[in-house]
Amino acid sequence: MGMIAEVIVDIAHSDVDKIFDYSCDPDIGEGMRVAVPFGKGTAAGFVVRVKDATDYPAEKLKKIYRAVDKFPALGRECLSLAQKIAARYRVPLALSLRLFLPAEMRTGKVSEVYTTFARLTGDPREIPPRAKAQLALAAYLEEHGEAEAAALRKQFGAAVNALEARGVITLEKRRRRRDPYGGQEGERVEHLLTPAQSEAVRRIQGTDKTVTLLHGVTGSGKTEIYLNLIAQQLEQGKTALFLVPEISLTPQMLFQLRSRFRSKVAILHSGLSAGERFDEWQRLREGEARIAVGARSAVFAPVENIGLIVIDEEHDGSYSSESAPRYNTFDIALLRAKYNGCKLVLGSATPAVETYRRAEEGEFELVTLPDRINARPLPEVRLVDMRRDVRRGNPSPFSALLKERLAACLEGGNQAILFLNRRGYSQTVMCLDCGNVVKCEHCDVALTYHSEEDCLKCHYCGARYRMLEACPACGGKRIRYVGTGTQRVVSELKKLYPAARVLRMDVDTTSGKEGHFKILKKFASREADILVGTQMVAKGHDFPAVTLVGILDADMSLYFPDYRSGERTFQLITQVAGRSGRAEEKGEVVLQTYDPENAILRFAAQYDYKGFYRHEISMRAATMFPPYAKIVRVMVTGENEQETLACLKEAYVALSEIYNTHADKFLFFNRMHAPVKRIQNKFRYQVLMRLLPGGPLKEIYDAVAVVKHKNVLCYVEENPSNLS
Ligand code: ADP
Ligand code: ZN
Repeated sequence: MGMIAEVIVDIAHSDVDKIFDYSCDPDIGEGMRVAVPFGKGTAAGFVVRVKDATDYPAEKLKKIYRAVDKFPALGRECLSLAQKIAARYRVPLALSLRLFLPAEMRTGKVSEVYTTFARLTGDPREIPPRAKAQLALAAYLEEHGEAEAAALRKQFGAAVNALEARGVITLEKRRRRRDPYGGQEGERVEHLLTPAQSEAVRRIQGTDKTVTLLHGVTGSGKTEIYLNLIAQQLEQGKTALFLVPEISLTPQMLFQLRSRFRSKVAILHSGLSAGERFDEWQRLREGEARIAVGARSAVFAPVENIGLIVIDEEHDGSYSSESAPRYNTFDIALLRAKYNGCKLVLGSATPAVETYRRAEEGEFELVTLPDRINARPLPEVRLVDMRRDVRRGNPSPFSALLKERLAACLEGGNQAILFLNRRGYSQTVMCLDCGNVVKCEHCDVALTYHSEEDCLKCHYCGARYRMLEACPACGGKRIRYVGTGTQRVVSELKKLYPAARVLRMDVDTTSGKEGHFKILKKFASREADILVGTQMVAKGHDFPAVTLVGILDADMSLYFPDYRSGERTFQLITQVAGRSGRAEEKGEVVLQTYDPENAILRFAAQYDYKGFYRHEISMRAATMFPPYAKIVRVMVTGENEQETLACLKEAYVALSEIYNTHADKFLFFNRMHAPVKRIQNKFRYQVLMRLLPGGPLKEIYDAVAVVKHKNVLCYVEENPSNLS
């Protein structure tokens, strides 16, 4: 009686998205990658189950060619999770299984590396006295123990092989791990928890809820709490997942983790080489490393017996995947927490409104840390009305106050961070007299200027407006696209403070492996006095010498055409402000705005998260945006416009049917061009929907799953973090 393996072929197409039975040898086990005969050729596949018998006719049954690896690449939990993910997001199982493997493994570009070592295993007295090199080699090994054969060959040449032939030394191939840390490990730092931290730890451990929201102001010591919880799980023989936004996986953070947990930590980071990433993944899979640290894809890390999952900066947009399957990291983490019966901790100084609501309603445990460590004060935030500066004829991106504080900061030998929000910057239209930003009549989101058509558009409902000649609010004629990029700021700084050393950090300066690591390192080692940057500078860096943070354009993200723009603004300001005054010296923040009365800015300046939350949640309730409704977008993109339109039509017909049967669950339903009509030569169309709770989400996924057009991609997005 042979064995039968159930195989999913690694082809992401719904036509082959089913289980195929193959016969196999006993060395094939569950979770292994295999090569199988498929159609006229060979395919890669995953063994999802091994069984004794099949109904499939024996004469048609084919045999697995071979195992691809010596080990099962996928564990039990992966297989179960992949099935749930495939069902939830309606993707072929092959696609969801791939999430669990380092990409390089599938393309066959990485493998383990081996190094040959030599050691003495025989008697050196057998070496004849005239074989000087051999004697020297034996003496060397006697003194040093074993050594790498390659190095020995350089020094002793042919003597290595000669001694092996004599049986005096043995050469042995051993697996070598590539080391992404460059051997950097420092002094182990571990703080004694403060009473507030201990209490937080107790609450997280004591609750019977799976999820805890740890809401702590910047600098309240959340990291120390995570590390403490992780250490406790390790002691109990368990493993942990520690997820952070890609950008905040800073050298400091890694250093801290490595110093504390040494080789128990494995990092999964896009800055690693393919080989390093593969080795880190292997260390986790084999249990040599037991803490997986990384950005969103680390939620798929191959660890078993998880005792804790942490999602730091849980509000961060990078936790939603932007390629199929478009999963949300929290959803996957929750599945894993339930599977392992462990706790899931979400940490943030500025939780997403939707998360905070779930905590407030009792679904999540809520633990609050209102104070910084050692009662260090939060930096004082001063709002500057830029309209006044503009009226005084100040064309500089810096207000008078900011210039004065910057000079004082530099004189005091401290560092400053200047933040500006470049996203969609030059596109928003603003009245310089009253600060009014033109909004859509139906959606309460800012309109965006489209230069090709010279008109204003709403990215939510597709409404178009003619370019304005006067401000609809005050009649003023000074309507402008306000805008300054990071580059202009840097050149202005050079004029104002010729002696200051300035670093710029944005998408353009951080390309390449470790691009932003390098800039942060430079700034941390005080090779610069001022750091100018976009969002990237906002994330959890700890620069003790920074005493001034300037936010040049606090409004800009407010008018980004997105229902979450208020939330994003509050988060950004809080995060950037949190960079100031982290050590002994008091910090300060200068926040420049054209809209100083704006409620969100006022809450941010007061660090009043709850005030902000109440304001925001009541707006969402009034306008029926998430969490009171769900935005669902079906995107259709392809290089050929006719094909793309045909696919859009097919999707629209199917979705219309759902709309007609469930009209009472829809707040909005329309098809249109996506706001950005073409990206990388692909035309983009969308069907935009807003659903009430209990709306026909599953039906929408089902309908989209059967829409099939060659060369056109059609997919569903839920509450997309980017509606462009
Ligand atoms: P958060 O993650 O909440 O922003 P951090 O974890 O970065 O805060 O902590 C802020 C600072 O306080 C860090 O420099 C950290 O080393 C320090 N710190 C944390 N916990 C303690 C403690 N129990 N005692 C002394 N210092 C601490
Ligand atoms: Zn609109």
